[in-house]
Amino acid sequence: MLILGIETSCDETGVALYDTEQGLLAHALFSQIAMHADYGGVVPELASRDHVRKLLPLCDQVLAKAGRDRNDLEGIAYTAGPGLVGALMVGGSVAHALGFALGIPVLGVHHMEGHLLAPMLEDNPPAFPFVALLVSGGHTQLVRVDGIGQYEMLGESVDDAAGEAFDKTAKMLGLDYPGGPRVAALAEKGREGIYRFPRPMTDRPGLDFSFSGLKTFTLNTVNDAKDNGAFDEQVKADIALAFEAAVVDTLTIKCRRALEQTGCKRLVIAGGVSANKRLRAGLEKMTAKLNGSVFYARPEFCTDNGAMIAYAGAQRLKSGQRDGERIVSVPRWPMNTLPPVNEPRAN
Ligand code: ATP
Ligand code: MG
Ligand code: FE
Repeated sequence: MLILGIETSCDETGVALYDTEQGLLAHALFSQIAMHADYGGVVPELASRDHVRKLLPLCDQVLAKAGRDRNDLEGIAYTAGPGLVGALMVGGSVAHALGFALGIPVLGVHHMEGHLLAPMLEDNPPAFPFVALLVSGGHTQLVRVDGIGQYEMLGESVDDAAGEAFDKTAKMLGLDYPGGPRVAALAEKGREGIYRFPRPMTDRPGLDFSFSGLKTFTLNTVNDAKDNGAFDEQVKADIALAFEAAVVDTLTIKCRRALEQTGCKRLVIAGGVSANKRLRAGLEKMTAKLNGSVFYARPEFCTDNGAMIAYAGAQRLKSGQRDGERIVSVPRWPMNTLPPVNEPRAN
């Protein structure tokens, strides 16, 4: 079954072609980062308008790359949420219009399920069950995964997401958005042991996270350095390293707990922060000690992309799930309300 996947939940237009027999055939991404840079964050209306401009040309581009045309398509998957409602509506409208014109099924996909399943696109994909750490710009969650649509929420952030903490730290250090990769690059020049940042909520049982205190700690450290006239490149790098080490340690401690609690040996990490090298290394080390293993996607499939939506949608479309006539757009949508693959959807 040949599926077109469309991602427009935020500031990247992502499109991909996935074939349930042959795998991923082509993918393309347009990032709006430069357009939003002047505003210091994503401007929802500008995001929607740019998706309108880029989406159909990107669809044609992936079809051409794969040597297929629209009439070869057998299903369309689009991100139905969570995300910016205007941006979501663009993807949903295009998906439904194309699906209607071509007479093929269309399905709205959960963005975080897309992230969660992205490592399935790689060689040696993880078998169920596993524990998943979802770490992105808007989410930090630990989930027990027994199959597609069989999600038990084990813990989540009570305030900021890990990616958001990286982005805010970047801002404090004078770095551009998205901050994660920039903080990570700066941290490579940092000296170990100059600063020690807290590991929030690791001193008590449970699998929830909190990153807002760490953000305040970073701000106070930056302000102290500024007051002392010591806020130079080396100090910025030292702070970046201390921050990154604190996030990685905190995530690693909670992942270990989740593996021990569930008895799972496999850990999957997904979402933008799962591209972080220090996090990957920390989790490799921890899972090796437990005789387990960690799985993740290639960096370009950790952040938003069309391939993950095409893949997640393909699994569900294949089993007969599809939208009704209405475009589904759900800006807030808990992932554990999704049906398992073989059950029909309510909408
Ligand atoms: P959500 O998926 O929760 O709706 P989002 O789509 O904005 O949010 P993603 O695209 O999955 O999030 O990831 C973007 C986030 O990942 C940003 O916060 C970015 O700073 C962070 N990020 C990307 N690469 C890295 C990295 N190497 N190290 C740390 N953080 C990173
Ligand atoms: Mg993004
Ligand atoms: Fe995302």
